[in-house]
Amino acid sequence: MPPEVLEASARALVDYNGMGAGIAELSHRGPELDAVFDETTARVRALMDVPDEYDVLYLQGGATTLFATIPMCFLREQADYLITGEWTLKAAEAARYYGRVNVIGSSEATGFDRNPTGWHPTPGADYLYVCSNETISGTRWSELPSHPSLIVDASSELMARPFDVRRLALLFGGAQKNLGPAGLVLAIVRRDLYERIPSTVPAIFDFRAQAKAGSRLNTPPTFAVYMLLETLRWLEREGGIPEIERRNEQKAALIYEALDELSDFYTPTVTDKPNRSRMNVTFRLPTEALTNQFLQESEARGMIGLKGYRTVGGIRASIYNAMPIEGCAALAELMRDFAETKLSVVSSRKQRPVL
Ligand SMILES: *Cc1c(COP(=O)(O)O)cnc(C)c1O
Repeated sequence: MPPEVLEASARALVDYNGMGAGIAELSHRGPELDAVFDETTARVRALMDVPDEYDVLYLQGGATTLFATIPMCFLREQADYLITGEWTLKAAEAARYYGRVNVIGSSEATGFDRNPTGWHPTPGADYLYVCSNETISGTRWSELPSHPSLIVDASSELMARPFDVRRLALLFGGAQKNLGPAGLVLAIVRRDLYERIPSTVPAIFDFRAQAKAGSRLNTPPTFAVYMLLETLRWLEREGGIPEIERRNEQKAALIYEALDELSDFYTPTVTDKPNRSRMNVTFRLPTEALTNQFLQESEARGMIGLKGYRTVGGIRASIYNAMPIEGCAALAELMRDFAETKLSVVSSRKQRPVL
């Protein structure tokens, strides 16, 4: 998270506006929290250009909870899922309890190294579900599919790229990648979807009931919402989403350039270049031992968290909005230095005369 956001949030946690009480100690139905929710929503609407026909909701339980509540509310008969990685796999699995799940495209057979092509939506399906950026494998939809009811998990790309909300039925994401602390979910929902919600859905899982209660059906994670607000203020000071997107593109390009240049040493996990993630750059080294050495060397240079996801291995550089370009430049430099020493060792070994 940006240091300014952390510092402002820390101050508010100790003493909010000189009240002698911290933001997390104030009533979620009091005027201070009302103002926090109102400003947050106004900023989400302005930053993302959210039309009036959509609600902005703050939900709990992380993005994974919505893997279940989305089909619980909106899957009446059948829904289409495009499987591009672990997150869409999990979402499709959760939906099976509520209706027929059509996997209309999947790149699982090729290890999620690309986005599926040649797929067709099922006529009459309740919705099409995609993940805009697969955080673990490192693919993204550079252009989202078109569908009258498109549902997008944008957990790792919310406010990192512009979304044309008018083309979507529901956009959601956990806050923890680009926006704030874990547990909080930001959801933008087109109101006409509410008609589909079965009366058997408990209020706490019901998007309409949450909208009606201003996302405060029960006690919301008020401090997480406050941190989101500070992130939105920061985003606006930085120039908004188009400027952040420009930086993110530049940041990712630094690492991909090194990766492409050193393709005899590093192997990218994603082969589908137009759909390579700008948030999570994934690649492998020739051996496990070299991967561990690379990780050690990265820590020695002050870079942490580069180990690939447990199911994928290799290296994953997560370079969310708050990562400065210098961090990406430092990684690209490490990649070049590391490959250079290892390749020269290999070539000097090859040149050793056989006696
Ligand atoms: C992190 C992530 C999730 C899961 O988020 P939780 O808040 O841990 O449930 C879901 N989808 C994507 C794309 C993610 O990156």
